[in-house]
Amino acid sequence: MDTKAIKELNNLYIMNTYGDRQLAIVRGDGTKVWDADGNEYLDFFSGIAVISLGHCHPEVVAAVKSQAERLFHVSNLYYIEPQVKLAQKLAANSFADKWFFCNSGAEANEAAIKIARKYWFNKGEARPGIIAMDGSFHGRTLMTITATGQAKYKKGFAPLMPGFKHVPFNDVDAVAGAIDETTGAVLVEPIQGESGVRVPSDDYLAKLRELCDDKGLLLIFDEVQTGLGRTGSLFCYEHSGIAPDIITLAKSLAGGVPIGAMGATDEVAAAFQPGDHASTFGGNPIATSAACAVMDVLTKPGFIDGVAQTGDYLFSEVRAALDGDNHVVEIRGKGMMMGVELSVPAKEVVGRLLAGGIIAGTAGEKVLRFLPPLIITEAEVDTVVAALRDAMKELPDG
Ligand code: PLP
Repeated sequence: MDTKAIKELNNLYIMNTYGDRQLAIVRGDGTKVWDADGNEYLDFFSGIAVISLGHCHPEVVAAVKSQAERLFHVSNLYYIEPQVKLAQKLAANSFADKWFFCNSGAEANEAAIKIARKYWFNKGEARPGIIAMDGSFHGRTLMTITATGQAKYKKGFAPLMPGFKHVPFNDVDAVAGAIDETTGAVLVEPIQGESGVRVPSDDYLAKLRELCDDKGLLLIFDEVQTGLGRTGSLFCYEHSGIAPDIITLAKSLAGGVPIGAMGATDEVAAAFQPGDHASTFGGNPIATSAACAVMDVLTKPGFIDGVAQTGDYLFSEVRAALDGDNHVVEIRGKGMMMGVELSVPAKEVVGRLLAGGIIAGTAGEKVLRFLPPLIITEAEVDTVVAALRDAMKELPDG
């Protein structure tokens, strides 16, 4: 099928939640993808931070193939070998002692909020309250749109869930002011992704940790987007020198196979008892085999250091190229998570880059977003920076 034929069928049979999708990508290899008409693109968006090791990474492909020939699915009524191996790898490389697997970021956050509530319930304390941040994004289920701090995702879906308060991001005093006797946990993205790649001040997360310790609250980090190498460390929380009590992952964990994960310290994990939470597909053999392969690549000596280095190169080259451009408000991010806030809608620049064979994205209306595969080379950064320089020429005034 060519792009036109795919688009026609899409418009006939797919609910229109995504609007005009522009491309029909049918093949990928490393940092490159091809559309149904044979056009090649350099992928600097990774399917929204999913394809971190590049498309069809050979070790992930081999893991999926070999698992597919052995066993596709077994229910969580039975032990699942790749699932326990994945949990062991995640535990060995993080603060979290125990893991629950599901199928998406939203589900991982649902699990995080449920375990926080159950933790307090088991202690006999009525502390279901969650403090979340303005501008945050936590998913599209009813509870996670409630947790999300952006009105546009909630419109038309009331009534939402009780028990959530929102305060400004990067403001520890605001969190302190919102705490009351019903508060049980604080939920935060270490760097806000969807609302514009917003990086808090260096001491924000450590101060949140201090506050939560002081008030006896649980701290939940949503690392669905920032996790697994994206910011130049395996987990973004490592930059802050502290750890949360609960963490959520999804997106890149299984190299493109759907997965979600929620990890917690032993103490918090004990709040879930048999029957408290479950998922038919969660921790499925194929997804967890793929994720084991992803973890093996990410934890190879030097891999994450390489990501940090190329990320620094990306930031320094983009900063140099856009220096003095009066359409640029701010360049921000970490590692390979970059937002360029413009004074004009970022869609125009994304469109121009796409016309030149480069896939980028937006975050909010005016932020151009790059989430390249972690395996990009400096030469590919140079290609994108040259294209960006051209794309920024003669933009309309903001
Ligand atoms: N949390 C964060 C920080 C995200 O960026 C996203 C998705 O963009 C989600 C949660 C939701 O993940 P999913 O779309 O897999 O449900």
